[in-house]
Amino acid sequence: MTVCNTFQQLAVYTWTQINRSRKVNYQLKEETLTDMIVLELKRKHGHQVITHTFSKYYESKNGADWEWWFNNNGKWIGFRIQAKIINNKSNEFEHLHYKGKKAVMHQCDTLIHNALTTSPPKIPLYSLFLSTNDKSLLKRWFCKTFTLDRKFWGCSLINAFDVQKLRSSNIKHLRDLEMLIRPWHCLVCCSGYHGNDKIQQMENYAKANFPLDNNIIKELNLNIPESFITENPPDYVLSLFKNESAEIQPPDENLYGILIMTLASNDEIAQ
Ligand SMILES: [Zn+2]
Repeated sequence: MTVCNTFQQLAVYTWTQINRSRKVNYQLKEETLTDMIVLELKRKHGHQVITHTFSKYYESKNGADWEWWFNNNGKWIGFRIQAKIINNKSNEFEHLHYKGKKAVMHQCDTLIHNALTTSPPKIPLYSLFLSTNDKSLLKRWFCKTFTLDRKFWGCSLINAFDVQKLRSSNIKHLRDLEMLIRPWHCLVCCSGYHGNDKIQQMENYAKANFPLDNNIIKELNLNIPESFITENPPDYVLSLFKNESAEIQPPDENLYGILIMTLASNDEIAQ
């Protein structure tokens, strides 16, 4: 079982669970699905996946982000991710433009800030957990490697800069997001983004589909390197990589979990 296969299965799983929850009128939370997804990744790829969650996380903070670090042959790429789930009834991501009660910034701005102002920088994304029984939605398909299966939309990704732009109009309905989202398996599966290795292919995919907003980068006066690929992940990631039970400190108060995935030689990018 490759990571690509597992990502697809987990998207189907997510779609199915949300469908079930809709049928019995019970709204799931994004934390629940994140937990199940991480559990399944560890169960299926135990030798490849390392995780750590910070127990001193408080709800009052402005987010519960994850950092996902992929590595292969000494090369690393990091993503800073905030998860949101679709509302069963409205087909909206209700909390997409969330701002904590005591927070100065919107969650999205904090996510972008924490992803890009630290070294090495991470790519800021939202993962959207969704399903819908509205057949007029999700007719388009952006994956060039696999044919359309609506359930593959179950775990989707969207650029945090796109979320930021949608905020002023309070746009959060799936209908208005569907041109911007991508099925998450493409990140680890797609073969259309040539590179010398898997990490390079991932970055090529991310750059093509979730480009940084240069105006915001300038506004924030950020110095973003040409590439997000690094041979030197942060200390807290390296410590975990060496020892999953290492005692580490979170880099900021909004980071809830870290997931490290080592792509194996059989995780060939699908042809
Ligand atoms: Zn794809």
